[in-house]
Amino acid sequence: ETEDLYCIGCGAKIQTTTPDALGYTPQSALKKGLANGELYCQRCFRLRHYNEIMPVSLTDDDFRRLLSQIREANALIVYVVDIFDFNGSMIPGLHRFVGENPVLLVGNKEDVLPRSLKRPKLTDWLRQQANLNGLRPVATTLLSAKNGHDVDDLLQLIDHYRGNRDVYVVGVTNVGKSTLINRILKRNTGVADLITTSRFPGTTLDKIEIPLGEDHVLVDTPGIIHPEQMAHFLTADTLKYVAPQKEIKPRIYQLQPEQTLFFGAVARFDLISAKTTAKTSGVTAYFENNLMIHRTKLVNADSFYDRHAGELLAPPSGADLAKLPALTRHEFHPTEKSDLVIEGLGWITVPANVTVAGWAPAGVSVLLRRAMI
Ligand code: GDP
Repeated sequence: ETEDLYCIGCGAKIQTTTPDALGYTPQSALKKGLANGELYCQRCFRLRHYNEIMPVSLTDDDFRRLLSQIREANALIVYVVDIFDFNGSMIPGLHRFVGENPVLLVGNKEDVLPRSLKRPKLTDWLRQQANLNGLRPVATTLLSAKNGHDVDDLLQLIDHYRGNRDVYVVGVTNVGKSTLINRILKRNTGVADLITTSRFPGTTLDKIEIPLGEDHVLVDTPGIIHPEQMAHFLTADTLKYVAPQKEIKPRIYQLQPEQTLFFGAVARFDLISAKTTAKTSGVTAYFENNLMIHRTKLVNADSFYDRHAGELLAPPSGADLAKLPALTRHEFHPTEKSDLVIEGLGWITVPANVTVAGWAPAGVSVLLRRAMI
């Protein structure tokens, strides 16, 4: 009798017989995956390693299977999102599966926020975004899984809200869920050994249960792959250059109308026009400090990109550039000081009464919000 195995990407049950069905994994890949502890179905493996996106509809059953476990559970749901990528962090349909269960919203990667950013403003924004998606979190908190900042606050919130429930930690891949769980493990000394030595009966590879106190568990659910994340369009190496890693240092530009900023080859910002008598408008870019920002004229911007993407405008370059979906334009007319957010990358703060466009790889969200700073 063999134990059922599940993909750590989407949670589908692994099978080796039907290539076009969910959870298919070739026998050889199954062996490798088990050996290195990273068992993905072929679909998720391809998405992670070759940026091949298979239709989202295929993953729906997987989502439902996982999420319905949550609905049936009496659980406190700890929902981890990347504060730089709210839409990329969304679990489609999560609100329907939450049921009566309370949700604690956790915005991770607080360490990369510039010091000047007022934390409560961001917390409010996260809550509003959650509301737009049908979620009403009982509390919203920011933390850094990487350096441990405010992880204790989360543990206190968990204690306060869990009552006699188990705690389910959910999140899409790349939000830092594993890093957070590892943090929590370190604070509960001795627990790390427990997980590897005594798995709970009925536990399969699709979730890990961590004892919390006497008779409760903290459940780590599989990271669901959200195909429209910047992370899936770039290799891990490139991602290090474009995704914010350390505290962001704001970069200020005085732009004339019809000027363009390129962010490597991954994003673009156009100041199209401004209703002001001043010759220039001040905009502030909040992106990874090492990401090259290049200024040019709007009229030449398209041809400039065609000529220089992968060289002067990088990363990405080479094969990585070839895999990057075409930059897609999103136009906005802010009437108050606003942030034009390029999800997964950062944002540009613009003054009121301008016409601007943000460009990002097709699928990556670009949106406008009230300025955070
Ligand atoms: P998971 O797929 O959600 O389990 O995400 P991981 O824990 O593997 O983290 C994804 C990436 O985000 C890794 O490169 C981490 O180093 C990074 N990361 C995770 N937490 C933080 C954080 O608090 N701050 C920063 N700057 N990066 C983080």
